[in-house]
Amino acid sequence: MGQSQPWDAIVIGGGIAGLSAAIYLARAKRQTLVIDNRKSLANWATDVENYLGFPHGIAGEDLLARGRKQAGHYGAEFADDYIEELRRAPSNIFHVIGQHEVYEARRVLLATGIYHLPPDIPGLPECLGHSMFFCKDCDGFRCEGRRIGIFGWNNETVEYALAMLLYSPCVFIFQNGHESRWSAQHEEWLHEYEIPVYPERVVDVHHKHGDVQWLELESGVHVELNALFTTRGDIYHNKLAHQLGANTHDSEVLVNECMETTVRGLYAAGCVTPANCQMIIAAGEGAKAGQAINRSLFEESLQTHALHRFRSKQIENCETEPPVGAATAR
Ligand SMILES: Cc1cc2nc3c(=O)[nH]c(=O)nc-3n(C[C@H](O)[C@H](O)[C@H](O)COP(=O)(O)OP(=O)(O)OC[C@H]3O[C@@H](n4cnc5c(N)ncnc54)[C@H](O)[C@@H]3O)c2cc1C
Repeated sequence: MGQSQPWDAIVIGGGIAGLSAAIYLARAKRQTLVIDNRKSLANWATDVENYLGFPHGIAGEDLLARGRKQAGHYGAEFADDYIEELRRAPSNIFHVIGQHEVYEARRVLLATGIYHLPPDIPGLPECLGHSMFFCKDCDGFRCEGRRIGIFGWNNETVEYALAMLLYSPCVFIFQNGHESRWSAQHEEWLHEYEIPVYPERVVDVHHKHGDVQWLELESGVHVELNALFTTRGDIYHNKLAHQLGANTHDSEVLVNECMETTVRGLYAAGCVTPANCQMIIAAGEGAKAGQAINRSLFEESLQTHALHRFRSKQIENCETEPPVGAATAR
């Protein structure tokens, strides 16, 4: 790297949103550094079937590797680091403090994502991404005709179960020992649509190479299943936004239509924002943020005459020769 000047843009998070932003920024000739500690949720997605352009699906890991290669191809650079702290100097330069190094940037994009908390049950971690999922829009389709269990105890759980009926006639709810917190209307729907509910704690998830076979309840009862979903407890990686005083709502980092947070020069994209947590949406938000950052750097370069200095050097170095007879604006 060896960067003595601040980077034009530092992207914190090299998942789907961050890589997409880096491609746009690098192609806009902005010096761009992606800092990532390689824990993208996309690594959990073994087979992504809803991303445009891959009719037979693609592994999330593969999509990340392709994105990294693409961003690198256009000149984005990468650092393996975990950012602990973000500060802003009076000069408006951001100080990005990592575990290994301190970096400086004129603009920062937070593409730090979220973490889905799976229920804490033996056997379940091995099923993640294989037969245990978090998102019906991502993985409902692949579970067509299977026996589907939904973990949860609130309105969202009931609505998840009802929506899953389009994929399978066998849908069950597991409260896993929690009191139900759904409304009277949701309770009525459970009866009307005859959805079985198991209030007991689940003590074990039996699986074969990650494919769930049955759940064991506290009473010893076994319930056969082929797929599990959970209405998720999400942890938002919003610490850095809070450090600079950016506004959040329900833990989500708020952004305007240009993906800028309430702190000038600090942008956010992907699952850490209120966007629906889907790869194609994260990629779109990253692209939008990359474009907005580039625009803001361009406007600044006109105000500060940095573009003029760049142009003077270009002319000095004879990198351009106007065609004979071309008029020069005064
Ligand atoms: C099991 C599973 C299956 C899924 N299947 C699908 C699917 O089929 N289709 C679909 O559209 N979506 C799917 N998703 C969701 C998808 O993975 C996310 O929408 C997508 O990864 C979000 O992109 P992102 O860039 O916002 O966050 P991420 O891709 O999670 O990237 C965030 C990155 O930021 C890094 N980071 C965080 N904090 C720091 C820090 N302080 N310093 C440095 N680095 C940091 C992380 O390590 C990570 O690499 C699935 C998710 C799961 C869990």
